[in-house]
Amino acid sequence: MHKITSVIKVLFRQTAKKYPVFFVLKTVRMLVVAAMPFISLFISPLIVDEIVGDRDVNRLITLAALLIGLEVIFQLLNDLCTNYVNRYSTRIERYFDILIGRHVMELDFQLTEDKEALEQIEKARTGMSWYSGGVDGISDQFFQFVGNVIKAAGFITILAMYAPILLVVMVVYSCVNALFMYKCNKVGIEAFAKLSKVNRLFSYFGWAIVEPRYGKDIRLYDAVGMMLDSWKENTRKSNSHWKWQGDTNFPFMLASEYLSLGRSIFAYFYVALLAIRKIISVGTFAQLIAAESGLDYAIGGIVQNVTELIKRCNYAYEYVVFMDYPGALTKGTRPIEKKQHEIEFRHVSFAYPKTERKVLDDVNIKIAPGEHLSIVGLNGAGKTTFIKLLCRLYDPTEGEILVDGVDIREYDYDQYMEQFAPVFQDFKLFAFSVKENIAFTDDTADITALTDRVGLHDFVTGLDKGADTNIFKFFDEEGVEPSGGEQQKIAIARALCKDAPVVILDEPTAALDPIAEYEIYKQFNSLVGGKSAFYISHRLSSCQFCDRIAVFSDGHIAEYGTHAELEKIEGGIYAEMFEAQAKYYKD
Ligand code: ADP
Repeated sequence: MHKITSVIKVLFRQTAKKYPVFFVLKTVRMLVVAAMPFISLFISPLIVDEIVGDRDVNRLITLAALLIGLEVIFQLLNDLCTNYVNRYSTRIERYFDILIGRHVMELDFQLTEDKEALEQIEKARTGMSWYSGGVDGISDQFFQFVGNVIKAAGFITILAMYAPILLVVMVVYSCVNALFMYKCNKVGIEAFAKLSKVNRLFSYFGWAIVEPRYGKDIRLYDAVGMMLDSWKENTRKSNSHWKWQGDTNFPFMLASEYLSLGRSIFAYFYVALLAIRKIISVGTFAQLIAAESGLDYAIGGIVQNVTELIKRCNYAYEYVVFMDYPGALTKGTRPIEKKQHEIEFRHVSFAYPKTERKVLDDVNIKIAPGEHLSIVGLNGAGKTTFIKLLCRLYDPTEGEILVDGVDIREYDYDQYMEQFAPVFQDFKLFAFSVKENIAFTDDTADITALTDRVGLHDFVTGLDKGADTNIFKFFDEEGVEPSGGEQQKIAIARALCKDAPVVILDEPTAALDPIAEYEIYKQFNSLVGGKSAFYISHRLSSCQFCDRIAVFSDGHIAEYGTHAELEKIEGGIYAEMFEAQAKYYKD
């Protein structure tokens, strides 16, 4: 019950705020549909009694015209409302897609790597469309339920007046039938839980297969077989869930059919008996038979609406849960200015969520305002993790990170994020224009100076629409596919455009040779000027223009100092790495 009320409250409130007319239309349609069966229910018996009795032609014509006229008007009203409601349905579905999408993008980063949170996103998405029918599907059931209750109340009144025993039979029948429907519904909910995992895998396959980045590996490593085998295995699992649902529900469906047949036979015999004994007129006989089947239909509708509502709300509840998903980080309110900062890691240790191994172990370091720090070390030493903690993508498991002497958890999260402009190794460009990729806006701001500074002058001027040219061909057939190097420069321009006090390069150049990387880092360093900068690399060529170097090894800072200092440490990691790598760039 809690799920139904919270889903209806949340969904209806969010929809009504944006599209209030939708509910007005649905209410009018519900009242029209509820009134429709009563037109014939009250007028038809009068016609029948007139035919059997006085046979006054004028009265017969008037009654028939009234019956047809009212039915046409009500049907017209129903069609009109349906037409307008349908126009809103897709809009509302898109609106909730946007709400989910926005929440996904605003979710704490660490949850985007969390299996449970990812599953919750998928459940929210499918729960809000596929299974529940979204707001349209749920509100349909809700309004049909209210309409059916109104209809049932009318039919019950008629039956109570002329055939109370039939009413008792109807009630007993309906209770047993409701039980069958409830069982079927429970099976449906269980199947949904099992299917959401399977569907997540389906959407991964669907996505991975069309991604050009996967395309190369799929072809070169002949991954087609592996992908198709997994796909088949998933299809088998999905089919077996659907089969299980069908097989389990079949006996309940069958029992319900036979029960309904028995009830109809009883109704006809009983009402015919009343008519034969002249307790009721022929017109009332017809009215009671119509009321009986109408009530059966209305109660069936109510049971169906309630079970559907429970089922649909259970699915859509995943949306409510997701929109309320607890954050992974502590967020403070302390303001932070955009200026040079002193940064300190104090006894910081960190293990990724749901893992035991300490990826960072008692890291201590203090970086002065405006200092340029090079972070080096072998792959897996913890360099990126160090940056992720500084950028608050994760919080330390132990210890604290201080910015200007204050634990970073105390700062206002959004303002804190304003302080950093990182370029990560796995940076991503969006399928929007070059300008939007750099400035995140398509306004008239001129980014020419910036693109020139990072060496993109020829690239941009060579494009038909300059910086307004779309990157990739997702949305635009004329879109450009920048080379790896050009993509890096765009990402670097993006970091510079943010104009944050702390800039970070986390090996976005890993695919380049050491000399090319050195050139990019050196150029970037001159563009950065007096800002604080962190340069990550496992190559030492990129260290030489930095004030200090921190050598990471197995999650801790093994050596720390200037190039000249570290080079001298006998048997030191830095000295050995430098010696080993020097041959690449001695020339
Ligand atoms: P580096 O940048 O020095 O190459 P990272 O900081 O990326 O190293 O990784 C340090 C260790 O943390 C590695 O062993 C890596 O496998 C592990 N790691 C990185 N990201 C995650 C994650 N999201 N979940 C679990 N372990 C991770």
